Amino acid sequence: MEVENLANGKYEGKEAIVIIGAGPAGLSAAYDLVSCGIQPIVFEKSSTVGGISRTENRDGYYFDIGGHRFLSKIDYINRLWQKMLGENLLNVRRLSRIYYKGRFFNYPLVPSNALINLGPIESVLIVLSYLRAQLQFNTEDTTFEQWVSNRFGSRLYKTFFKTYTEKVWGIPCNQIRADWAAQRIKGLSLVAALSNAILRTQKARTLVDQFVYPLQGPGMMWRSFQQAIETGGGQIHFDSEVLEIGSENGRVVGVSFSKNGQPYDIPADHVISSMPINRLVRALHRITPSEVTDAADGLSYRSFLIVNLIVRRKELFKDQWIYVHSPEVLVGRIQNFKNWSAAMVPDPEMSSVGMEYFCNEGDEIWIMPDEQLIALATSELEKLGLAQGREVVNGFVVRQSQAYPVYDEGYKDNLQTIKHFLDGIQNLQTIGRNGMHRYNNMDHSMLTGIFAAKNILGEQHDVWNVNEDEEYLEEYREERAAAALSTEILETAFCRMDKLAFAVAVGAVSGLTVFIATLWLIIKGGEVVGPHLSLLSQYFAGYSVTVKGAFIAFSYTFFWGFLFAWLFAYLRNLLVAYYIYRTKRKAEMFSLNDLFDRL
Ligand SMILES: Cc1cc2nc3c(=O)[nH]c(=O)nc-3n(C[C@H](O)[C@H](O)[C@H](O)COP(=O)(O)OP(=O)(O)OC[C@H]3O[C@@H](n4cnc5c(N)ncnc54)[C@H](O)[C@@H]3O)c2cc1C
Repeated sequence: MEVENLANGKYEGKEAIVIIGAGPAGLSAAYDLVSCGIQPIVFEKSSTVGGISRTENRDGYYFDIGGHRFLSKIDYINRLWQKMLGENLLNVRRLSRIYYKGRFFNYPLVPSNALINLGPIESVLIVLSYLRAQLQFNTEDTTFEQWVSNRFGSRLYKTFFKTYTEKVWGIPCNQIRADWAAQRIKGLSLVAALSNAILRTQKARTLVDQFVYPLQGPGMMWRSFQQAIETGGGQIHFDSEVLEIGSENGRVVGVSFSKNGQPYDIPADHVISSMPINRLVRALHRITPSEVTDAADGLSYRSFLIVNLIVRRKELFKDQWIYVHSPEVLVGRIQNFKNWSAAMVPDPEMSSVGMEYFCNEGDEIWIMPDEQLIALATSELEKLGLAQGREVVNGFVVRQSQAYPVYDEGYKDNLQTIKHFLDGIQNLQTIGRNGMHRYNNMDHSMLTGIFAAKNILGEQHDVWNVNEDEEYLEEYREERAAAALSTEILETAFCRMDKLAFAVAVGAVSGLTVFIATLWLIIKGGEVVGPHLSLLSQYFAGYSVTVKGAFIAFSYTFFWGFLFAWLFAYLRNLLVAYYIYRTKRKAEMFSLNDLFDRL
């Protein structure tokens, strides 16, 4: 495709729409525009589509950058995936386990399986530590270590949470703030906890148990998007890195990019950017205030590399991936691509595994030469007893910088500063995972792209509202209405009882009952006035069926009624508070149970 033809990408001959990045977000934006007869221009700095969700192909072996499950609660996105790939989209029954001390543990964790695998002594110790955690209230919840130990017990935390989390983040768990876990699990409000624990458990389980996957990996999906965009007249320029964005009077006016080392400029009336937000700020350096540049520099990322090994063995293990908790190896997760789709491996006698290492750009692992990384991965595969070193016939390394936006202490403030600055540029929208410094999966990344495209067409969507908790589409209106209703019911059922009001009411009603009964018997008269009621004098000193007695009875019954009602309300509030506490804990634990899937 000729760079000189770029001007052809003008919308109705008037407006040029430039999209930065051909990952899921950028491609979805471009596809949406093309579907409306508009031809955008996409610049992609790499030589392929898919971004972090791309599929690499070496010698007929397909590798993801970490296995990518296609699963979404958004019907619109599910339909779009189906439309793009149809029968090339496989339904995969998920199997993934934790590998620890030479044993496989089901993941998400299943208590019976975990206890059997751990053996009787360790199981008893874990159960005791768990029970101790359940009996502790008001424990400090500042760090991830405390947060998990308080819910699962410190022994289970050390066995199943510590090592893997530390491998992913590269820092000790007692330096990871608890907020991070809380953010990852949601369900901290009573209603969210109850719906998580009671109402939506079934749906959540289904989502965890199976997913869809393209026959030849996610790259197949993005190639299909590429084809649709190009067929519709959109352009995708590869090896084209956007370096600078020009602006005048609060509007973007053009984009400068480099293609094969040559600089180019192109005018732009709208820019949709999925490049990492810190780099976007740098691309706007001519108008960026220093505090915004500082905020962008304050954002941090965790990177990731995958060593793909071709192994001469038909079957290695039956999982799609395993989490490696064993502390004696550096590898964090191992993908077995053949189990995602048999078509990922060209020779049925062979297997291919992706050994995933979490790292920081520039650290020891990141800069290690490829041959050394392949040797390390091969030796670790052997050390774990999953294959023999001599069975490994080939290896490739793929490095992915900025794989994980880091939610550290300062990220929220930094992001807010950047967002405020970008909000001032009317015709620039930032989308996607790194584009928004959000933990977006493919579906939410795509949705931000779709909304950005629709905004250009005149609709009004706040792309920042798209995230895991916010189901933003039409299809979710009904569900949201039902949730609102259940919120109302739950809030009414579980609200606190006003002890004083309840006690006064019960005291007054019981007092008045005896008072009126006494007066009624006096009015009724007779030889012996109120022989039965007068027996109350045994309990109420000074009581008789007289007007004075009616007041005495009122005082006594009011007092006792008040006291019992107050105690009742107190105990009821205590029990409800305990129930809420337990339910929230359960919901948190349920969510924490598949935490690693969301790392
Ligand atoms: C290890 C791992 C596993 C994951 N697993 C899953 C999963 O199972 N399921 C799931 O749904 N999601 C998963 N994700 C998340 C998923 O990868 C992302 O949500 C998705 O790729 C984000 O899409 P995007 O378009 O926003 O960004 P990206 O995929 O990062 O794409 C951005 C594109 O912009 C290009 N670009 C950047 N800067 C420039 C520039 N200056 N000029 C031109 N082009 C530029 C990049 O080269 C890239 O192609 C996983 C992520 C990781 C790291």
